[in-house]
Amino acid sequence: MTDTQARVAIVTGAARGIGAATAVRLAADGHAVAVLDLDEGACKDTVEQIRGAGGTALAVGADVADSGAVTAAVARVAEELGPPVVLVNNAGVLRDNLLFKMSDDDWDTVMGVHLRGAFLMSRAAQVHMTAARYGRIVNLSSSSALGNRGQANYSAAKAGLQGFTKTLAIELGPFGVTVNAVAPGFIATDMTAATAARMKVDFEAFRTAAAERIPVRRVGEPADVAHTISFLVSEGAGFVSGQVVYVAGGPLN
Ligand code: NAP
Repeated sequence: MTDTQARVAIVTGAARGIGAATAVRLAADGHAVAVLDLDEGACKDTVEQIRGAGGTALAVGADVADSGAVTAAVARVAEELGPPVVLVNNAGVLRDNLLFKMSDDDWDTVMGVHLRGAFLMSRAAQVHMTAARYGRIVNLSSSSALGNRGQANYSAAKAGLQGFTKTLAIELGPFGVTVNAVAPGFIATDMTAATAARMKVDFEAFRTAAAERIPVRRVGEPADVAHTISFLVSEGAGFVSGQVVYVAGGPLN
């Protein structure tokens, strides 16, 4: 248990990867956690892991890009767990392609999940945060916000989330709500495994090559990001807001 007072948290995209690790970590910190993902059934493993460790968790199925589904999901969390005052906008998808091959759908899907999703979830959750005069929002940006070949859609969305983060920090700060972004570098998850597969590279070789370029000489694990998010949502981090924390094993330009 850290200094975090028991509060209700929502983590989106929490069926696996960084979201699952974050949900488990926030539960270990003492939060009751809504484990939200597209498919409620897919949240089972994360929820069982939390409950098995004595924590409180609720599986919630919702598409974060769907306004009606988001409204219903946040209302359900408030009713079943209590008012959510911690939100981690983690749900994400990739639709990588070079610009000349990128379809309208590749663009819209990525914008929909990352930007519209974070907007809809934050707008719904801030009602509870401002009422409580306390809140913590963390948005998942990425080192790709700095530019990455084949990711015009994703890098634009992840850079957009940095502006979104700073603006919400300004608007919600007077209500005791902090808003920050974490921008991971290479984290070993299904997402990076899918990138390796798309490039027709063995994942172990892909990881090893990435690690050689990272100053700490390893790739990141979901727990590395979860640890940073745990700090940002802790009670003691109340004077840290509007920041982008790169979790990348070294500095990025
Ligand atoms: P992941 O393993 O692919 O997990 C993403 C999760 O989000 C999946 O469970 C996915 O569900 C869910 N999701 C997708 N669309 C959704 C929607 N519309 N509504 C609700 N849930 C949805 O990804 P990850 O690697 O853990 O990445 C998590 C976040 O960190 C993402 O925002 C990603 O962009 C960011 N990030 C990752 C890395 C990295 O190296 N892995 C680096 C920088 C930033 P389905 O399985 O049903 O699709």
